[in-house]
Amino acid sequence: MFDSIVRLAESVRSGERSAEGVATETLARVDAREPSVKAFLHVDRAGFLEAAKAVDAKRARGETLGLLAGVPIAIKDALCMTGVPTTAASRILEGYKPVYDATVVAKLRAADATLVGKTNLDEFAMGSSNENSAYAKVHNPWDLDRAPGGSSGGSAAAVASRMCPGSLGSDTGGSIRQPASFCGIVGVKPTYGRVSRYGLIAFASSLDQVGPFATDVRGAARMLQVLAGHDPHDATTLDAAVDDYEAACEKPVKGLRVGIPREYFGEGLDPEVDVAVRRAISCLEQFGCTVKPVSLPHTKYAVATYYVLATAEASSNLARFDGVRYGLRKEPDRDLRNMYGATRDAGFGPEVKRRILLGTFVLSSGFYDAYYLKAQKVRTLITRDFEKAFEEVDVLCAPTAPTTAFKIGEKTHDPLAMYLSDIDTLPASLAGVPAMSIPVGLSASGLPIGLQIITPHLQESRAFAIAAACESHAALQVGAPTKFA
Ligand code: GLN
Repeated sequence: MFDSIVRLAESVRSGERSAEGVATETLARVDAREPSVKAFLHVDRAGFLEAAKAVDAKRARGETLGLLAGVPIAIKDALCMTGVPTTAASRILEGYKPVYDATVVAKLRAADATLVGKTNLDEFAMGSSNENSAYAKVHNPWDLDRAPGGSSGGSAAAVASRMCPGSLGSDTGGSIRQPASFCGIVGVKPTYGRVSRYGLIAFASSLDQVGPFATDVRGAARMLQVLAGHDPHDATTLDAAVDDYEAACEKPVKGLRVGIPREYFGEGLDPEVDVAVRRAISCLEQFGCTVKPVSLPHTKYAVATYYVLATAEASSNLARFDGVRYGLRKEPDRDLRNMYGATRDAGFGPEVKRRILLGTFVLSSGFYDAYYLKAQKVRTLITRDFEKAFEEVDVLCAPTAPTTAFKIGEKTHDPLAMYLSDIDTLPASLAGVPAMSIPVGLSASGLPIGLQIITPHLQESRAFAIAAACESHAALQVGAPTKFA
Protein backbone atom coordinates (compact mmCIF):
# COMPACT_ATOMS: atom_id res chain seq x y z
CA MET A 1 0.00 0.00 0.00
CA PHE A 2 1.30 3.47 -0.85
CA ASP A 3 1.73 5.73 2.14
CA SER A 4 3.01 9.20 2.90
CA ILE A 5 6.52 9.62 4.29
CA VAL A 6 5.46 10.15 7.90
CA ARG A 7 2.96 7.27 8.00
CA LEU A 8 5.42 4.95 6.29
CA ALA A 9 8.29 5.81 8.64
CA GLU A 10 6.07 5.38 11.69
CA SER A 11 4.77 2.01 10.50
CA VAL A 12 8.33 0.75 9.93
CA ARG A 13 9.50 2.17 13.26
CA SER A 14 6.66 0.44 15.09
CA GLY A 15 7.24 -2.86 13.29
CA GLU A 16 3.82 -2.82 11.64
CA ARG A 17 5.58 -3.02 8.26
CA SER A 18 9.03 -4.25 7.32
CA ALA A 19 11.37 -2.03 5.34
CA GLU A 20 12.04 -4.95 3.02
CA GLY A 21 8.33 -5.39 2.35
CA VAL A 22 8.02 -1.69 1.56
CA ALA A 23 11.04 -1.89 -0.76
CA THR A 24 9.66 -4.90 -2.62
CA GLU A 25 6.32 -3.14 -3.14
CA THR A 26 8.15 -0.05 -4.30
CA LEU A 27 10.12 -1.98 -6.92
CA ALA A 28 6.89 -3.56 -8.18
CA ARG A 29 5.42 -0.06 -8.59
CA VAL A 30 8.57 1.15 -10.31
CA ASP A 31 8.43 -1.81 -12.73
CA ALA A 32 4.80 -1.06 -13.57
CA ARG A 33 5.03 2.73 -13.84
CA GLU A 34 8.52 3.51 -14.99
CA PRO A 35 8.00 2.39 -18.63
CA SER A 36 5.46 5.19 -19.14
CA VAL A 37 6.96 7.86 -16.84
CA LYS A 38 10.73 7.31 -17.30
CA ALA A 39 11.69 9.16 -14.14
CA PHE A 40 14.85 7.20 -13.40
CA LEU A 41 18.27 7.07 -15.01
CA HIS A 42 19.30 4.25 -12.71
CA VAL A 43 17.31 2.07 -10.30
CA ASP A 44 19.69 0.72 -7.68
CA ARG A 45 17.76 -2.49 -6.96
CA ALA A 46 20.49 -4.31 -5.06
CA GLY A 47 21.55 -1.33 -2.93
CA PHE A 48 17.94 -0.39 -2.22
CA LEU A 49 16.94 -3.89 -1.02
CA GLU A 50 20.13 -4.25 0.96
CA ALA A 51 19.47 -0.94 2.74
CA ALA A 52 15.92 -2.06 3.55
CA LYS A 53 17.18 -5.33 5.03
CA ALA A 54 19.70 -3.40 7.10
CA VAL A 55 16.90 -1.25 8.53
CA ASP A 56 14.93 -4.36 9.50
CA ALA A 57 18.05 -5.89 11.05
CA LYS A 58 18.65 -2.72 13.05
CA ARG A 59 15.12 -2.89 14.42
CA ALA A 60 15.52 -6.59 15.20
CA ARG A 61 18.59 -5.67 17.29
CA GLY A 62 16.39 -3.35 19.31
CA GLU A 63 17.98 -0.13 18.04
CA THR A 64 15.85 2.97 17.56
CA LEU A 65 15.18 3.70 13.92
CA GLY A 66 15.65 7.11 12.30
CA LEU A 67 13.02 9.62 11.20
CA LEU A 68 12.85 8.18 7.68
CA ALA A 69 12.96 4.49 8.62
CA GLY A 70 12.34 2.38 5.54
CA VAL A 71 11.12 5.33 3.47
CA PRO A 72 12.02 4.91 -0.22
CA ILE A 73 13.61 8.10 -1.54
CA ALA A 74 14.79 8.81 -5.08
CA ILE A 75 17.87 10.97 -5.64
CA LYS A 76 18.34 13.52 -8.40
CA ASP A 77 21.25 12.35 -10.51
CA ALA A 78 23.15 15.57 -9.82
CA LEU A 79 23.98 14.22 -6.35
CA CYS A 80 26.82 11.80 -5.65
CA MET A 81 26.01 8.37 -4.30
CA THR A 82 28.91 6.02 -3.62
CA GLY A 83 29.39 3.40 -6.32
CA VAL A 84 26.19 4.32 -8.17
CA PRO A 85 26.39 5.84 -11.68
CA THR A 86 26.08 9.62 -11.42
CA THR A 87 25.88 11.56 -14.66
CA ALA A 88 23.95 14.83 -14.13
CA ALA A 89 22.19 13.57 -17.29
CA SER A 90 25.29 14.44 -19.30
CA ARG A 91 27.31 12.27 -21.69
CA ILE A 92 30.45 13.80 -20.27
CA LEU A 93 29.92 11.93 -16.99
CA GLU A 94 28.86 8.64 -18.59
CA GLY A 95 30.34 5.80 -16.57
CA TYR A 96 31.29 7.98 -13.60
CA LYS A 97 30.77 6.36 -10.20
CA PRO A 98 31.45 8.61 -7.22
CA VAL A 99 33.65 7.37 -4.40
CA TYR A 100 31.69 9.29 -1.79
CA ASP A 101 28.15 10.22 -0.77
CA ALA A 102 26.84 13.77 -0.97
CA THR A 103 26.16 15.00 2.57
CA VAL A 104 22.41 14.97 1.92
CA VAL A 105 22.62 11.36 0.73
CA ALA A 106 24.61 10.43 3.84
CA LYS A 107 22.05 12.20 6.02
CA LEU A 108 19.15 10.30 4.43
CA ARG A 109 20.99 7.02 5.01
CA ALA A 110 21.72 8.00 8.62
CA ALA A 111 17.96 8.60 9.10
CA ASP A 112 17.37 5.02 7.81
CA ALA A 113 15.82 6.04 4.49
CA THR A 114 16.24 3.53 1.66
CA LEU A 115 17.49 5.00 -1.62
CA VAL A 116 15.74 3.77 -4.75
CA GLY A 117 18.08 5.17 -7.39
CA LYS A 118 18.95 8.19 -9.49
CA THR A 119 16.39 10.33 -11.27
CA ASN A 120 16.60 12.09 -14.60
CA LEU A 121 17.14 15.84 -14.97
CA ASP A 122 18.06 18.45 -17.52
CA GLU A 123 21.76 18.11 -18.28
CA PHE A 124 23.67 19.74 -15.37
CA ALA A 125 20.27 20.99 -14.13
CA MET A 126 20.04 23.47 -17.00
CA GLY A 127 16.47 23.57 -18.14
CA SER A 128 12.82 23.78 -17.21
CA SER A 129 11.34 20.68 -18.83
CA ASN A 130 13.79 17.80 -18.48
CA GLU A 131 14.12 17.74 -22.25
CA ASN A 132 17.79 18.72 -22.03
CA SER A 133 18.71 15.34 -20.55
CA ALA A 134 21.25 13.57 -22.77
CA TYR A 135 19.54 10.25 -22.06
CA ALA A 136 15.73 10.33 -22.07
CA LYS A 137 12.65 12.47 -21.68
CA VAL A 138 10.55 12.26 -18.52
CA HIS A 139 6.76 12.21 -18.87
CA ASN A 140 4.40 14.11 -16.60
CA PRO A 141 2.27 11.55 -14.72
CA TRP A 142 -0.82 13.78 -15.08
CA ASP A 143 -0.56 13.78 -18.87
CA LEU A 144 2.18 11.69 -20.43
CA ASP A 145 2.44 14.02 -23.43
CA ARG A 146 3.49 16.86 -21.17
CA ALA A 147 6.79 17.81 -19.56
CA PRO A 148 7.20 17.23 -15.82
CA GLY A 149 9.04 20.55 -15.53
CA GLY A 150 12.69 20.86 -14.76
CA SER A 151 15.35 20.52 -14.02
CA SER A 152 14.41 18.02 -11.28
CA GLY A 153 11.66 16.52 -13.47
CA GLY A 154 12.56 12.89 -12.77
CA SER A 155 12.44 13.41 -9.01
CA ALA A 156 9.07 15.15 -9.28
CA ALA A 157 7.59 12.56 -11.65
CA ALA A 158 8.75 9.64 -9.46
CA VAL A 159 6.82 11.10 -6.53
CA ALA A 160 3.79 12.27 -8.55
CA SER A 161 3.38 8.78 -10.04
CA ARG A 162 3.62 7.38 -6.50
CA MET A 163 6.65 5.24 -7.25
CA CYS A 164 8.09 6.58 -4.00
CA PRO A 165 6.79 9.11 -1.47
CA GLY A 166 9.80 11.43 -1.50
CA SER A 167 12.83 12.47 -3.50
CA LEU A 168 15.66 14.97 -3.57
CA GLY A 169 15.98 17.76 -6.08
CA SER A 170 18.16 20.81 -6.48
CA ASP A 171 16.92 24.29 -7.20
CA THR A 172 19.10 26.96 -8.80
CA GLY A 173 16.34 29.07 -10.31
CA GLY A 174 13.22 27.00 -9.75
CA SER A 175 14.20 23.41 -10.42
CA ILE A 176 12.40 22.05 -7.36
CA ARG A 177 9.41 24.40 -7.26
CA GLN A 178 8.44 24.44 -10.94
CA PRO A 179 8.43 20.63 -11.39
CA ALA A 180 6.57 20.32 -8.06
CA SER A 181 3.97 22.70 -9.47
CA PHE A 182 3.72 20.88 -12.83
CA CYS A 183 3.46 17.48 -11.11
CA GLY A 184 1.04 18.37 -8.29
CA ILE A 185 3.36 17.65 -5.35
CA VAL A 186 5.17 19.55 -2.60
CA GLY A 187 8.67 20.89 -3.33
CA VAL A 188 10.86 22.99 -1.05
CA LYS A 189 13.79 25.23 -1.92
CA PRO A 190 15.32 26.00 1.46
CA THR A 191 17.17 29.20 2.38
CA TYR A 192 20.50 29.47 0.57
CA GLY A 193 22.96 27.77 2.94
CA ARG A 194 20.35 25.81 4.92
CA VAL A 195 21.25 22.48 3.28
CA SER A 196 24.71 21.23 2.32
CA ARG A 197 25.72 21.08 -1.34
CA TYR A 198 28.75 18.88 -0.69
CA GLY A 199 28.50 16.20 -3.38
CA LEU A 200 26.04 18.17 -5.53
CA ILE A 201 27.42 18.60 -9.04
CA ALA A 202 27.63 22.39 -9.13
CA PHE A 203 25.71 24.49 -11.66
CA ALA A 204 25.67 28.05 -10.24
CA SER A 205 27.19 28.04 -6.79
CA SER A 206 25.69 31.30 -5.51
CA LEU A 207 22.21 29.91 -6.20
CA ASP A 208 22.22 26.09 -5.96
CA GLN A 209 20.23 24.60 -3.08
CA VAL A 210 19.20 21.00 -2.40
CA GLY A 211 15.68 20.29 -1.16
CA PRO A 212 12.92 17.71 -0.84
CA PHE A 213 9.90 16.65 -2.88
CA ALA A 214 7.08 14.82 -1.14
CA THR A 215 3.47 13.84 -1.68
CA ASP A 216 2.45 15.94 1.31
CA VAL A 217 3.60 18.90 3.40
CA ARG A 218 4.51 16.94 6.54
CA GLY A 219 6.61 14.56 4.48
CA ALA A 220 8.58 17.46 3.04
CA ALA A 221 8.93 18.93 6.56
CA ARG A 222 10.31 15.68 7.93
CA MET A 223 12.76 15.38 5.05
CA LEU A 224 14.01 18.94 5.50
CA GLN A 225 14.43 18.23 9.21
CA VAL A 226 16.86 15.46 8.26
CA LEU A 227 18.63 17.41 5.51
CA ALA A 228 19.12 20.84 7.08
CA GLY A 229 22.10 21.99 9.09
CA HIS A 230 25.71 23.05 9.03
CA ASP A 231 28.19 20.89 7.17
CA PRO A 232 31.94 21.29 7.68
CA HIS A 233 32.36 20.13 4.05
CA ASP A 234 30.35 23.08 2.69
CA ALA A 235 31.57 26.49 3.85
CA THR A 236 28.38 28.15 2.59
CA THR A 237 26.15 26.24 5.01
CA LEU A 238 24.68 28.27 7.84
CA ASP A 239 25.42 27.50 11.43
CA ALA A 240 21.87 28.32 12.59
CA ALA A 241 19.73 25.95 14.65
CA VAL A 242 17.33 23.76 12.67
CA ASP A 243 13.68 24.38 13.53
CA ASP A 244 11.18 21.60 14.14
CA TYR A 245 9.51 21.79 10.72
CA GLU A 246 7.01 19.04 11.42
CA ALA A 247 5.83 20.81 14.55
CA ALA A 248 5.52 23.98 12.47
CA CYS A 249 2.91 22.21 10.33
CA GLU A 250 0.59 22.14 13.37
CA LYS A 251 0.94 25.86 14.11
CA PRO A 252 -2.10 28.10 13.59
CA VAL A 253 -1.72 30.67 10.84
CA LYS A 254 -4.24 33.10 12.29
CA GLY A 255 -2.90 36.63 12.27
CA LEU A 256 -0.12 35.99 9.75
CA ARG A 257 0.16 38.77 7.18
CA VAL A 258 0.15 37.37 3.65
CA GLY A 259 1.55 39.60 0.89
CA ILE A 260 0.42 39.25 -2.69
CA PRO A 261 3.19 40.55 -4.99
CA ARG A 262 1.37 42.24 -7.83
CA GLU A 263 4.19 41.65 -10.32
CA TYR A 264 3.46 37.90 -10.25
CA PHE A 265 -0.10 38.41 -11.45
CA GLY A 266 0.60 40.28 -14.67
CA GLU A 267 0.96 39.50 -18.33
CA GLY A 268 1.48 35.87 -19.31
CA LEU A 269 -0.33 34.43 -16.29
CA ASP A 270 -2.72 31.67 -17.30
CA PRO A 271 -6.21 32.70 -16.04
CA GLU A 272 -6.79 29.27 -14.54
CA VAL A 273 -3.57 29.56 -12.52
CA ASP A 274 -4.64 33.03 -11.42
CA VAL A 275 -8.02 31.77 -10.20
CA ALA A 276 -6.57 28.75 -8.35
CA VAL A 277 -3.88 30.80 -6.61
CA ARG A 278 -6.37 33.46 -5.55
CA ARG A 279 -8.71 30.78 -4.23
CA ALA A 280 -5.86 29.38 -2.11
CA ILE A 281 -5.19 32.85 -0.77
CA SER A 282 -8.85 33.33 0.13
CA CYS A 283 -8.73 30.01 2.00
CA LEU A 284 -5.86 31.46 4.03
CA GLU A 285 -8.10 34.43 4.82
CA GLN A 286 -10.70 31.98 6.13
CA PHE A 287 -8.00 30.67 8.48
CA GLY A 288 -7.50 34.20 9.85
CA CYS A 289 -4.59 35.45 7.77
CA THR A 290 -4.69 39.04 6.64
CA VAL A 291 -4.01 39.61 2.98
CA LYS A 292 -2.36 42.66 1.50
CA PRO A 293 -1.00 43.60 -1.92
CA VAL A 294 2.72 44.33 -2.04
CA SER A 295 5.17 45.24 -4.78
CA LEU A 296 8.50 43.69 -5.74
CA PRO A 297 9.33 46.29 -8.39
CA HIS A 298 12.52 44.71 -9.77
CA THR A 299 10.87 41.37 -10.57
CA LYS A 300 10.91 42.19 -14.27
CA TYR A 301 14.71 42.07 -14.31
CA ALA A 302 14.98 38.66 -12.66
CA VAL A 303 15.11 36.56 -15.83
CA ALA A 304 17.86 38.65 -17.42
CA THR A 305 19.81 38.89 -14.16
CA TYR A 306 19.60 35.17 -13.51
CA TYR A 307 20.66 34.16 -17.00
CA VAL A 308 23.75 36.37 -16.77
CA LEU A 309 24.81 35.21 -13.30
CA ALA A 310 23.89 31.54 -13.63
CA THR A 311 25.63 31.15 -16.98
CA ALA A 312 28.73 32.99 -15.71
CA GLU A 313 28.99 30.67 -12.74
CA ALA A 314 28.25 27.61 -14.86
CA SER A 315 31.00 28.46 -17.34
CA SER A 316 33.45 28.44 -14.48
CA ASN A 317 32.03 25.38 -12.66
CA LEU A 318 31.95 23.29 -15.81
CA ALA A 319 35.60 23.97 -16.64
CA ARG A 320 36.49 20.92 -14.56
CA PHE A 321 34.95 18.57 -17.12
CA ASP A 322 37.93 18.26 -19.41
CA GLY A 323 38.34 14.55 -20.03
CA VAL A 324 41.15 14.26 -17.51
CA ARG A 325 39.49 13.56 -14.21
CA TYR A 326 36.01 12.17 -14.75
CA GLY A 327 33.90 10.34 -17.31
CA LEU A 328 34.29 10.74 -21.03
CA ARG A 329 37.63 11.25 -22.82
CA LYS A 330 37.81 11.75 -26.58
CA GLU A 331 40.84 11.66 -28.87
CA PRO A 332 43.25 10.73 -26.06
CA ASP A 333 46.15 10.37 -28.47
CA ARG A 334 46.10 14.00 -29.61
CA ASP A 335 47.66 16.88 -27.71
CA LEU A 336 46.04 18.12 -24.51
CA ARG A 337 44.20 21.08 -25.99
CA ASN A 338 42.64 18.97 -28.72
CA MET A 339 41.71 16.27 -26.25
CA TYR A 340 39.93 18.87 -24.07
CA GLY A 341 38.11 20.30 -27.08
CA ALA A 342 37.04 16.96 -28.52
CA THR A 343 35.88 15.71 -25.10
CA ARG A 344 33.85 18.81 -24.33
CA ASP A 345 32.41 18.94 -27.83
CA ALA A 346 31.22 15.34 -27.64
CA GLY A 347 30.30 15.38 -23.96
CA PHE A 348 28.15 18.50 -23.57
CA GLY A 349 24.70 18.93 -25.13
CA PRO A 350 23.57 22.06 -26.99
CA GLU A 351 21.99 23.87 -24.02
CA VAL A 352 25.08 23.35 -21.86
CA LYS A 353 27.29 24.65 -24.67
CA ARG A 354 25.03 27.66 -25.11
CA ARG A 355 25.33 28.49 -21.41
CA ILE A 356 29.10 28.02 -21.31
CA LEU A 357 29.41 30.39 -24.30
CA LEU A 358 27.04 32.95 -22.79
CA GLY A 359 28.71 32.73 -19.39
CA THR A 360 32.20 33.07 -20.81
CA PHE A 361 31.05 36.07 -22.83
CA VAL A 362 29.51 37.96 -19.91
CA LEU A 363 32.70 37.42 -17.88
CA SER A 364 35.11 38.42 -20.63
CA SER A 365 37.12 41.61 -20.33
CA GLY A 366 35.28 44.51 -21.89
CA PHE A 367 31.87 42.96 -21.20
CA TYR A 368 32.24 42.11 -17.51
CA ASP A 369 31.11 45.52 -16.26
CA ALA A 370 28.22 45.78 -18.69
CA TYR A 371 26.81 42.34 -17.93
CA TYR A 372 28.19 40.49 -14.94
CA LEU A 373 28.78 43.44 -12.63
CA LYS A 374 25.49 45.04 -13.65
CA ALA A 375 23.64 41.81 -12.96
CA GLN A 376 25.21 41.60 -9.50
CA LYS A 377 23.89 45.08 -8.75
CA VAL A 378 20.40 44.23 -9.96
CA ARG A 379 20.52 41.11 -7.81
CA THR A 380 21.00 43.36 -4.80
CA LEU A 381 17.96 45.41 -5.83
CA ILE A 382 15.87 42.24 -6.14
CA THR A 383 17.03 41.13 -2.68
CA ARG A 384 16.08 44.54 -1.25
CA ASP A 385 12.60 44.21 -2.77
CA PHE A 386 12.07 41.14 -0.61
CA GLU A 387 13.56 42.78 2.47
CA LYS A 388 11.20 45.72 2.09
CA ALA A 389 8.17 43.53 1.48
CA PHE A 390 8.98 41.47 4.56
CA GLU A 391 8.87 44.62 6.68
CA GLU A 392 5.14 44.69 5.96
CA VAL A 393 4.15 41.03 5.63
CA ASP A 394 5.21 37.67 7.08
CA VAL A 395 4.92 35.62 3.95
CA LEU A 396 4.41 36.08 0.22
CA CYS A 397 2.00 33.96 -1.80
CA ALA A 398 2.15 33.82 -5.60
CA PRO A 399 1.96 31.39 -8.50
CA THR A 400 4.93 29.00 -8.77
CA ALA A 401 4.76 29.10 -12.56
CA PRO A 402 2.68 31.23 -14.91
CA THR A 403 1.19 28.15 -16.62
CA THR A 404 0.43 24.50 -16.05
CA ALA A 405 2.70 21.83 -17.58
CA PHE A 406 3.40 22.45 -21.26
CA LYS A 407 3.63 19.80 -23.96
CA ILE A 408 6.89 17.93 -24.54
CA GLY A 409 8.51 19.65 -27.52
CA GLU A 410 6.42 22.81 -27.19
CA LYS A 411 9.27 25.11 -26.16
CA THR A 412 12.40 23.22 -27.18
CA HIS A 413 13.05 25.38 -30.23
CA ASP A 414 12.69 28.65 -28.39
CA PRO A 415 15.19 28.92 -25.51
CA LEU A 416 13.86 32.35 -24.57
CA ALA A 417 10.30 31.07 -24.13
CA MET A 418 11.75 28.28 -21.98
CA TYR A 419 13.71 30.79 -19.86
CA LEU A 420 10.60 32.92 -19.41
CA SER A 421 8.77 30.00 -17.83
CA ASP A 422 11.06 30.51 -14.79
CA ILE A 423 9.80 34.04 -14.24
CA ASP A 424 8.08 33.34 -10.91
CA THR A 425 10.78 31.19 -9.32
CA LEU A 426 13.94 33.16 -10.16
CA PRO A 427 13.51 36.15 -7.81
CA ALA A 428 13.49 34.05 -4.60
CA SER A 429 16.57 32.20 -5.85
CA LEU A 430 18.42 35.45 -6.50
CA ALA A 431 17.48 36.71 -3.03
CA GLY A 432 18.40 33.41 -1.37
CA VAL A 433 15.11 33.26 0.52
CA PRO A 434 13.23 29.99 1.07
CA ALA A 435 10.29 29.19 -1.18
CA MET A 436 8.09 26.18 -1.61
CA SER A 437 5.43 25.02 -4.01
CA ILE A 438 2.31 23.15 -2.96
CA PRO A 439 -0.52 21.88 -5.15
CA VAL A 440 -3.72 23.91 -4.75
CA GLY A 441 -5.90 22.86 -7.66
CA LEU A 442 -6.32 21.38 -11.09
CA SER A 443 -7.04 23.12 -14.39
CA ALA A 444 -10.14 22.21 -16.39
CA SER A 445 -7.99 19.76 -18.35
CA GLY A 446 -6.79 18.14 -15.13
CA LEU A 447 -3.32 19.65 -14.79
CA PRO A 448 -1.98 20.64 -11.37
CA ILE A 449 -1.49 24.25 -10.28
CA GLY A 450 1.07 25.25 -7.65
CA LEU A 451 1.02 27.96 -5.00
CA GLN A 452 4.42 29.41 -4.17
CA ILE A 453 5.02 30.37 -0.55
CA ILE A 454 8.03 32.62 0.04
CA THR A 455 9.31 33.62 3.51
CA PRO A 456 12.29 35.56 4.89
CA HIS A 457 15.67 33.88 5.34
CA LEU A 458 15.51 30.81 7.61
CA GLN A 459 11.74 31.13 8.09
CA GLU A 460 10.91 27.79 6.47
CA SER A 461 8.73 26.98 9.50
CA ARG A 462 6.36 29.81 8.68
CA ALA A 463 5.98 28.49 5.13
CA PHE A 464 5.28 25.00 6.44
CA ALA A 465 2.50 26.36 8.67
CA ILE A 466 0.88 28.12 5.70
CA ALA A 467 1.36 25.07 3.47
CA ALA A 468 -0.16 22.68 6.01
CA ALA A 469 -3.16 24.99 6.46
CA CYS A 470 -3.78 25.05 2.71
CA GLU A 471 -3.37 21.29 2.50
CA SER A 472 -6.02 20.81 5.18
CA HIS A 473 -8.61 22.87 3.28
CA ALA A 474 -11.13 20.72 1.41
CA ALA A 475 -11.29 23.17 -1.51
CA LEU A 476 -7.56 22.83 -2.23
CA GLN A 477 -7.05 19.06 -2.27
CA VAL A 478 -5.42 17.70 -5.40
CA GLY A 479 -4.49 14.03 -4.78
CA ALA A 480 -2.71 11.73 -7.24
CA PRO A 481 -3.21 11.31 -10.99
CA THR A 482 -5.99 8.70 -11.40
CA LYS A 483 -3.86 6.20 -13.28
CA PHE A 484 -1.17 6.31 -10.60
CA ALA A 485 -3.34 6.62 -7.49
N1 GLN B 1 15.15 26.56 -15.39
C1 GLN B 1 16.25 27.27 -14.83
C2 GLN B 1 17.47 27.09 -15.70
O1 GLN B 1 17.32 26.56 -16.73
C3 GLN B 1 16.50 26.81 -13.43
C4 GLN B 1 17.18 25.50 -13.36
C5 GLN B 1 17.51 25.09 -11.98
O2 GLN B 1 16.94 25.60 -11.01
N2 GLN B 1 18.46 24.20 -11.88
O3 GLN B 1 18.54 27.50 -15.38
